[in-house]
Amino acid sequence: MPLPIGHALAGLAMQRARPGFFFANRWLDAFFFMFLANLPDADFIPGLISGRPNLYHHGAFHSLGAALAVALIGAGFFRLKKRRADARPHRRFRGPAAMIFLLFFSHLLLDLFALDLVAPFGLPLLWPFSGRYFIAGRPLFINVTRSSAAGDFFPSLFNSHNLAAALREVLILGSIALAAAWLRARAGKSRRAREGKGGVSGG
Ligand SMILES: [Zn+2]
Repeated sequence: MPLPIGHALAGLAMQRARPGFFFANRWLDAFFFMFLANLPDADFIPGLISGRPNLYHHGAFHSLGAALAVALIGAGFFRLKKRRADARPHRRFRGPAAMIFLLFFSHLLLDLFALDLVAPFGLPLLWPFSGRYFIAGRPLFINVTRSSAAGDFFPSLFNSHNLAAALREVLILGSIALAAAWLRARAGKSRRAREGKGGVSGG
């Protein structure tokens, strides 16, 4: 599994491609994209509460079924929120559902490309349609070492191995986020230039 910083950068890259998709406030919007890109790792929480943080990690919550369920539930909230503001029903539901699904699934794809040295290797990507665990043949990201006991779980994350993993993620996913921001800015600039020209010729 990549670290939260890696998943957050993936979420940020998607936010830069579609800024303001969920919320008009840019900070809240960016935070929500990063939250959804990290959401599958919430499966650490029940394990942390029971004293064995890894117990449910890379289980059913890291799957296509979970991505679909979260997308439908999340989009349901947006439908309620925008019921009066937007008269086009398909935009109220399908758009948020698709984006929430993509963000959640981006997490699963990144996890798929991470080195995993603890069986079962990878994640049950297609659950509930298949219980098989999937992992990429060539990992792109380094594994994260962590304690299996709740007491020292968080302190155990801070070590030089995980720092190297984080730097690699920042390099790869940070570059993608920057490229998305640059492409978005370029597209906006050329659109404004076109609109400017259209205004002169039309007037
Ligand atoms: Zn994960």
